[in-house]
Amino acid sequence: MIGMFATYVDPSARESVSAVLDSTFLSEGVKVRAFEDALTQKFDIPRPIALNSGSTALELALELAGIAPGDEVITSPQTFIATGIAILRQGAVPVFADIEYDTGNIDPDSVQKKITPKTKAILPIHWGGYPCDMDRLSAIAKGHGLKVIEDAAHALGASYHGKSIGAISDFTCFSFQAIKHVTTGDGGAVCCLSAADEQEGMKKRWFGIDRAHSPMSILGEREYDLKDPGFKFHMNDYAAALGLANLKNLDERMKRRRMISSKYREAFKNVYGITLWRQEEHCMSANWLFGFHVERREDFIRAMASRGITASVVHLRIDANSCFGGIRKDLPVQDRFNNTQIHIPLHDMLSDDEVGQIIDSVTAGW
Ligand SMILES: *Cc1c(COP(=O)(O)O)cnc(C)c1O
Repeated sequence: MIGMFATYVDPSARESVSAVLDSTFLSEGVKVRAFEDALTQKFDIPRPIALNSGSTALELALELAGIAPGDEVITSPQTFIATGIAILRQGAVPVFADIEYDTGNIDPDSVQKKITPKTKAILPIHWGGYPCDMDRLSAIAKGHGLKVIEDAAHALGASYHGKSIGAISDFTCFSFQAIKHVTTGDGGAVCCLSAADEQEGMKKRWFGIDRAHSPMSILGEREYDLKDPGFKFHMNDYAAALGLANLKNLDERMKRRRMISSKYREAFKNVYGITLWRQEEHCMSANWLFGFHVERREDFIRAMASRGITASVVHLRIDANSCFGGIRKDLPVQDRFNNTQIHIPLHDMLSDDEVGQIIDSVTAGW
């Protein structure tokens, strides 16, 4: 059975992770800093704050954005529950906007309509790695004095009008969980546009203590007066060593994902019962998922399974969960999207034969 995802571990990781274990310096240190610097260089993004998950990246970003209990954060239901949980954890209220049928991304028109005096931020998700309409979202945010926090868990390496995802909004959150493009086992990062936010974030990821400016006293403890309690969210050095190794041939892996994705698009463009999603010149996807709309979805999934291929919705709308208040009645496009969306395997470890098998299986019908 060809699976939806594959976890990439670079062969060089065995040695580099072992070296960290041998050093016995396991917590946050030079490797974390090196991983942050490597990400900055590779993706042309402001220096990320490396953390222990994408979920904590979202939480830290919301905290840095000043989101407080009762504040409203506009997001979309087409995501993983991590996005909504982070909002709830800050005591804030997720307000669900509708999405675009041909991307799964948040619809700026719907965002506009959801703004109230309590709205403090917009939290768009780049579904499958395809960039949201950031021009319009940024303009709406600017017009209403809102922060933008991007959930870019699927979008490492994506770009919008030539600008890297991670370098556009106040905050951008990445995930290095096992099935994401670059894994550290578990891990995440938040990029901040402002240096002040970055500094505050570096503090907040480690209890709120400024390690660089809290010297050891003669008594053997750092000197500090904690005013704002922070979190225990930092990445550790053996995770960072794995991340560094996994960046090594990322360019080739990303190129392979792009190539497979365009093969699929070419092969499926005239297949009856399939509607491909939008692809625009100025939106360069990170190709984390390959999704489309399909007629008779369960028949499709069964047919693919019988031919040895996994097909999956990946995530259905999250507002359906009780903790988020149940399915919203005013999101007609999300309703339609939820009923027909499907994804087939897209990852850089698929062989040419497997790609051929997937294409033949889909075009054979269901
Ligand atoms: C993976 C993911 C996250 C969270 O990532 P973790 O690193 O697992 O905490 C957040 N949002 C989306 C859309 C994701 O897919």
